[in-house]
Amino acid sequence: MIGTILGSGTGIPSLQRHAPAYLLEVAAKRWLIDCGSGSLLQLERIGKPFSTLDGLWITHTHADHVGELSALLHALRMPGLQRQKPFHLFGPAGFIAFFRQIVVPVVAVPEAFPFFVSEVTERQSLGELLVQSSVVSHSERFESRSYRFDYAGKSIVFSGDCDYDPRLRQLAAGADLLIIDCSTLHAGKVKGHLSAREAGKLAAEAEVKRLILSHLYPIDGREDERIEECQSQFSGPLALATDLMEFAV
Ligand SMILES: [Zn+2]
Ligand SMILES: [Zn+2]
Repeated sequence: MIGTILGSGTGIPSLQRHAPAYLLEVAAKRWLIDCGSGSLLQLERIGKPFSTLDGLWITHTHADHVGELSALLHALRMPGLQRQKPFHLFGPAGFIAFFRQIVVPVVAVPEAFPFFVSEVTERQSLGELLVQSSVVSHSERFESRSYRFDYAGKSIVFSGDCDYDPRLRQLAAGADLLIIDCSTLHAGKVKGHLSAREAGKLAAEAEVKRLILSHLYPIDGREDERIEECQSQFSGPLALATDLMEFAV
C-alpha cells in the first residue's frame, strides 16, 4: 500500500497545510480518505486526478473533512470524462442523511457510471482489501470514525479527528502505520482532539510500528515540539506530516 498526504492541516486556511485529505493506493485502486478543501488540486499536482479515484471514505462531516465533497461530485459529472468504473462513497452512521440534505441539493449524483453511497459497518471486504472502522470520540453532534486498511499482511490506520479513545487503540493494534490526529501540544489541548503527548501514548499502547502526526493546527515556530512531546511516549519511527508527503507499508 502506498499513499500521499494531500492535506495535513485543519479548518484554518493555510498556504502550508491544506484541509484534511489522504490518498491511499492499494490493489490497483485509489481511495481518498476525507475530502477537505484543496483536495482536487492536490490530486492534480501529483498527477493522480479526481477522475481516477475509486471512492472516498469520510471520517466525519465537519466542514474541514467534507469541504470539497460537492465539488468532487460536480467534477465527476463534467462532460467528456472517460470513466466507467464505479465510485463508492462511504461515511459514518448518519452520513446518508447528511448526503441527502446537504450535498444532493447542490449537486446531482453522477449518472455516467455506477455510484454508491453507504454507511460503513465495522468490517467490510473489498476483494482482498479489508477495511475495519471504529467509532471514536470527537463531536457530540455526529459520529466520527477511524479507518483501518489491511492488505497483503500490511495495515494503515487513519484516525480522523479523535480524542484519546481506547477504541482507536484497539483498531490500530499492531498496525504498520498510524496517521493520527495531533492537533496541538498538550499544554494547548483542545477537547475532541489528541495532543502530541496523547497521540504518542496511544500509539505506544497500540504498539504501532510507525506514526505520522497530522491534522496540525498552526503553532507559531513550535511545530517540531510536537515530535519531542510525542517521543516522550512513543519510541518508534515518527514524522510530522507535510502536504504531498508520500507513505508506504
Ligand atoms: Zn478536522
Ligand atoms: Zn472534526
